[in-house]
Formats: sequence, structure tokens, C-alpha cells
Amino acid sequence: MILHADVRTMDAAHPHATAIAISGANITYVGDDASSFIGPHTDVHDLGGRSVTPGLVDAHCHVYGLGVDLESIDLRALATEQAAAAAVIEGAKRIPAGEWVLGRGWDQNRWPGQTFPSHDTIDAIDRPVVLTRIDGHAIWVNTAAMKAAGITSNTPNAEGGKIVRRSNAPTGVFVDLAMALVIRAMPSAPPEVRERRLRNGLSKLAAVGLTGVHEMGLERETIAVLEKLAAAGQLPVHVYAYLLGDPAHPPEDSPKPAVGRFEMRGVKFYADGALGSRGARLYADYDDDPGNRGLWVTEPATLTRGVEAAVAHGWQVATHAIGDAAVGAVLDAYLAAEKSHPGDLRLRVEHNQIIAPQDEPKMVAAHAIASMQPTHATSDMPWAEARVGKVRIQGAYAWRKMLALGVPFAAGSDFPVERISPLLGLYAAVTRQDADGNPPGGWYPDQRMSLDEAIAAFTRGAAYASFAEDHRGMIAVGFEADLTTYDRALSPMNLKDLAVELTIVDGKITYQHAHDAPPHVETAAYGPKMEGGGPAPTPGIDD
Ligand SMILES: [Zn+2]
Repeated sequence: MILHADVRTMDAAHPHATAIAISGANITYVGDDASSFIGPHTDVHDLGGRSVTPGLVDAHCHVYGLGVDLESIDLRALATEQAAAAAVIEGAKRIPAGEWVLGRGWDQNRWPGQTFPSHDTIDAIDRPVVLTRIDGHAIWVNTAAMKAAGITSNTPNAEGGKIVRRSNAPTGVFVDLAMALVIRAMPSAPPEVRERRLRNGLSKLAAVGLTGVHEMGLERETIAVLEKLAAAGQLPVHVYAYLLGDPAHPPEDSPKPAVGRFEMRGVKFYADGALGSRGARLYADYDDDPGNRGLWVTEPATLTRGVEAAVAHGWQVATHAIGDAAVGAVLDAYLAAEKSHPGDLRLRVEHNQIIAPQDEPKMVAAHAIASMQPTHATSDMPWAEARVGKVRIQGAYAWRKMLALGVPFAAGSDFPVERISPLLGLYAAVTRQDADGNPPGGWYPDQRMSLDEAIAAFTRGAAYASFAEDHRGMIAVGFEADLTTYDRALSPMNLKDLAVELTIVDGKITYQHAHDAPPHVETAAYGPKMEGGGPAPTPGIDD
């Protein structure tokens, strides 16, 4: 029972209320007089005017990737190669025997001399070590890792990448596509390691108010572990997962029914790369790199065939598309699939970061869902316009354009690329400002969302994107009792320092802020910042 609350129902028929009654896992009353629902054993939460919304859902994130990140050795704060190496040697002691040692966050530009590190300083560890650079675009490895990968002075450079050498011998640093030469030798994680990572990632979600996640691309081995956890009733949130797919080899089976809080009926494809590293595929050259239009992770013809085959087998398709040409190609593929398989397909464009004006009508015609990440805009705003120029930027991170077109909109964070808290997403969506309130008035402020639009994107929109809008995403009678409550009455002006008070999943409290404790502050102590949600080069991430 919740009383004296600012209830934002996201139900257009009854947008506001002050009381909610819950019985078991479901909402039994929404209104202003719940007195007849209060019995001697009713658990009453008086919110004193503070807000409650439907439970927040991250519609694009990587819980498994978060788990990998959380157990990697963090090197970001270290000021020299020697200090980083010492941290790795120390950290390796707590990594179970037989596992590769993973770390992240080094940046030689912050070290004296600004030169790349070398395998020498980490060769004291006799098992493979792989340390990812802060931007995710290079790795620093030891001799054991190179040995495991069969790399010698004779190994040729990979196209699109570089093996850093000293008098021909590899130094242990591998840049861009050369990283795969080492990473592909990494043994596949056994189920118990996958389970440990999933549990670690899942354990972080309740405190930031999440009641559900859309896990965006997992290997089947990880899915099997999630299913097991779900069957045992051990998922603290609803997990709507996507199979990590390859359009050239689309799945030949069909989605299986939900297990407990777990459901997987979608497949994730990639059309292109990311904007920061100029891998996003554009119709015309990058403004700051003439001659370069980015890359296709999947060529349009292959993508069209892959989408068609996946839809034919009953899969919902979600495709990563960041550049305008990639978004256009995905929409063409979706239109073709809709034509041959008319129905309620809910095909999703993940990131949808830059859309060309001529493709906006296709978004509507394909009934596509815009799955976008408000914090990507505020992370990328310092350099995004340099990449695409003054004209194309008008179609970049263009949330309001999507809303105005009536395109279904689901919001997420893409954690661990960005930080976990959906509250940061609400703030970014409403202000288009960074954490310091810059730029004043917001970046391209005409694309800001209203507070209710932002909440809807993290609730009702996410429910729609997972075919769950008839029982999740609104505070309404008969709906699942997934709720998030806050430490204040929400207003567009006070989102910056917002904190969660209660997280409720299926009628059960999964997080409660203790009033004598300081509010939960999410630390940024995980994850290299990798811009734009590109295929994650961090070893072991399923992205
Ligand atoms: Zn992602």
C-alpha cells in the first residue's frame, strides 16, 4: 500500500493519483481513497508527497558486460605504467586460477612520456593478461597471452588494426582490429564464471530503481545460465533478453516461452560501428575525415536477408544502427520483412543516433521502435558535431523528432558503456545537459523531452518494446506491481540530484533506502567509456 504519493501512472486515462494498493504481485487499486484496502496486516508506505512511477526499465543494456567489468582490474587512476603493472600483479592474486587476468582503463597519455606500455612490466604473471585501454580501442597484453594466441615477430598486421612493435618484436600492444588476434584465443567462459558475472551485474540494479532490463545481445551459453537463474526464482528484475545474432547466419530455431522473469524472443544484429571511432556508417563523408564514410559491420543485402530469416522464425529483431546510412539500411530491411510477414513485429532500431530526413517516413512506415540512450547524447555532445557537421547534427539524438512522428520510443543507458542509473537518463532526456548543467539551456534544446515523456520512455515505451504493455509499464489495476519511488516530488528542475527510495518488483521490495544512511550514490567505478555503443572490444563482453 502506497499513500500520500505523487503517483505518475503513465496511464493516459488516469495520469495522476495519490494511492496504490497492491495484492501479491499485482496492483489492485489506483486512486485517491485506498482506505477500504487497508487491513491490520497491510504494509503501508506513506510517501509524504514524494513521487512514484512505474518501475524503471533499461531498454538497452548489458548486465553480463557489467559483470565482466566489475571483476576487471581498474587501472584508470594510475599515473605510470609501473603503477598500473603493480596493480595488475596485485589484482591477479584474487582472480581464480586458470582464468585470464582482465583489466581496463589504462591511458598512456596520462603517463610521463606518453608512450605505449610493454609486456615486460606484466610478464611476472605467468598466465595470460589482457588490459583494455580506456577507450576500448587497444589492449596491452603479456607474453603468456601472446603465446596463447600464437603471436610472434612473424605475425602479420591485421587489416584495420596495428601490432605495435619494437625492432619487429610485438611489444604487447594491439590496436583496433588487431586486438582480435589475442582476444579470439581467450577460452570461452565456463558456466560458473558466466553465472558469477551475471549475479554481480544483476546485484547492482535494484539500488538505481530498475525493475527490468532489456539485455542486448548474449551468447547462448550465457542465456542458458540466465534461464537457470530465472527458473530458480533468482532474478531480481525482469530480464528481456536478445540473442547475439549474425545476420549472415540467422537463428534457425524459434524463440522459446518465458521462464519466470526471463524471456528471450528477440535477436540482436549490428549494421555499423560507433560515431566516436568513425565506425558509424554515413551516407556522406565524415566532416572531420574526408574520404571516410565509416564501416558496415553487416552489408545491407546481408542484413536484409538476415532480418527476413529471423522474422520468418518468429524473432523480434533489434539492430544496432548509429550512422544515417546504417539507420536507412536497417529501415529498408525492416520494410521488406514487414511486407513479406505482415503483423505486429515491433522491429527495433538500437541507438538510432543519426537519421536522415528522407528516412524519417520509413521509420513510421516500418512501425519501427526507436531504442535510444539519452546519456549517449550528453556524453557525445562535445565532439559529435565535428564528426557530422551542422546539417546532419539536426537529425542526431533527435528524440523529439521521433516523438513528433509518433514513433514508439524506448529509453536505455547501454551500461556499462554509460553509467547504470536510469535517473541519469531521465536527467539527460529532460535537460540535454551534462552533470555540471552544461551547456546552459541544453544541447540542441528543441530535442529535449518533457519529464512525463522521459518517464514514459523508461517505462511504458520499454514495455511496448518487449510486448509487455498490457501488464507492465503503467500503474493501473491488474498490472504487475513494478514500481520505483523517489526521494522527492519529481519536477524537471530537480532531476540532477534525484535518488531512489524504494524499488518494488512483482509487489516485493528489492531496494529500500535507509533513512539514516546517505542516499545511494552510484560510483563510476566500472567500465571504460566506449562511445556510441559500438561492438564492445572489451574482452569477454557479449555486446
Ligand atoms: Zn549496447
